[in-house]
Amino acid sequence: MSPLDARYLRRKLLEAQHEQTPVALGGGVFVSACAGGYYWWLTQQAFYLYWLLIAALVILLRLSLYLCFAAWRRSQNGKAVESANWRRLHFAGFVAAALTWATIGLYVDYSLPFAQAAFIYVCLAGMVAGSVVSTASVSPQMFLIFSGITLLPLSLVLLISLEPQKMAMGLVCMGFFVFSMRSIYRIADIFQGFVASGLVNEQLLHELRQEQRQVLKLNEQLREDIAIRTQTELQLRAQKQRAESLAEKLYELSSIDGLTEIPNRRYFDEHFAEEWSRALRVQSVLSLIICDIDYFKDFNDHYGHLMGDDCLKAVASALDLHARRAGDAVARFGGEEFAVILPGIGLPEACQLADQMREAVLALGIMHAASKVSERVTISMGVACTIPSKEALPEMLLRHADEALYRAKRRGRNQVVSAGAD
Ligand code: GH3
Ligand code: MG
Ligand code: MG
Repeated sequence: MSPLDARYLRRKLLEAQHEQTPVALGGGVFVSACAGGYYWWLTQQAFYLYWLLIAALVILLRLSLYLCFAAWRRSQNGKAVESANWRRLHFAGFVAAALTWATIGLYVDYSLPFAQAAFIYVCLAGMVAGSVVSTASVSPQMFLIFSGITLLPLSLVLLISLEPQKMAMGLVCMGFFVFSMRSIYRIADIFQGFVASGLVNEQLLHELRQEQRQVLKLNEQLREDIAIRTQTELQLRAQKQRAESLAEKLYELSSIDGLTEIPNRRYFDEHFAEEWSRALRVQSVLSLIICDIDYFKDFNDHYGHLMGDDCLKAVASALDLHARRAGDAVARFGGEEFAVILPGIGLPEACQLADQMREAVLALGIMHAASKVSERVTISMGVACTIPSKEALPEMLLRHADEALYRAKRRGRNQVVSAGAD
């Protein structure tokens, strides 16, 4: 048994003894009243009244001590408690009780004849026998002290009295003392074994409780971790969504021309490559129009750059209005040039659409006093169409449209020319 266990065991035994105290004190009251009362009635000596008073005082003090300790234990909410002071006071109470009994025993023996004194021997034997109950659980030493103080001096006095009856009684007392000592050691062994087995169970229970507490704590931590992780995941998802929409916006911004607010050259390049691949895959026609504002340099020179910008915006939205099918795209190709991608549209329809666009720009009615072809802003357009093949490159369609535009310029501007036409 470890020192800690031994301490625990001692505490348990003391608690058990504490619980025996009322029984022990009850017995003490009864025997004291009998002994003190009987001898006072017999002798009328004041000694017995004083003795009764002292015995009552000792019992009262021990009772108060018991009640105080019980209250203190209750205040600890059932926690196992141990107090060295209480142990000492409890022990002192035992010694005081033993001394009162030794005193009356010796006094009776000294002052009264054997026949009258016999009652006190019975009382003392009864007290010693009774103390087995209250001390057996805790310590045989405690019993030894109590019964030693109570019985031994009287036994010795009886033995050395040289009166046969008293000597015989002294021997009986000694024998009783030895016999009680033997049995109390046995009782103490059994009781301690009993408490010790309870202690093992309690320790197991304690360990189990600790383990259970740890498991609960881990569980709690796990729950907190999961909550934090879920929270983080939600935050991450929200951030990802924000980042995606930002990226989308950024892409849109990077694909839109700042001035005209229609797609820019970068978008054109991507979209044109995509449409080219699609048309190549499904072997459908793909048309491309390149437009250029006529005499735009002169427009700028005449009306100023800001008016030039406004003109570019107006032309861009007029063109954009005419390319509304899915896949159609009007983009600012560069400077005052625009490109229109028309997937699935053949050359005649593309030329027709180009002419509608040209008319629409003219219909804007933007005055152009410096133009040599009209008094309003006009555009020239080159249209090209092809069914993409492995041999033909997208650049070829672009070049054909550009060449057609060049021809439109040469032919006098404000017109649509298709690739291949002279
Ligand atoms: P052509 O009929 O042969 O096309 O003659 P043009 O004057 O239109 O052609 P040119 O290439 O000589 O001039 C294009 C002009 O377009 C030059 C430039 O000042 C103007 N330009 C290009 N980008 C912008 C722009 O963003 N804003 C303005 N205001 N002008 C621009
Ligand atoms: Mg140009
Ligand atoms: Mg031009």
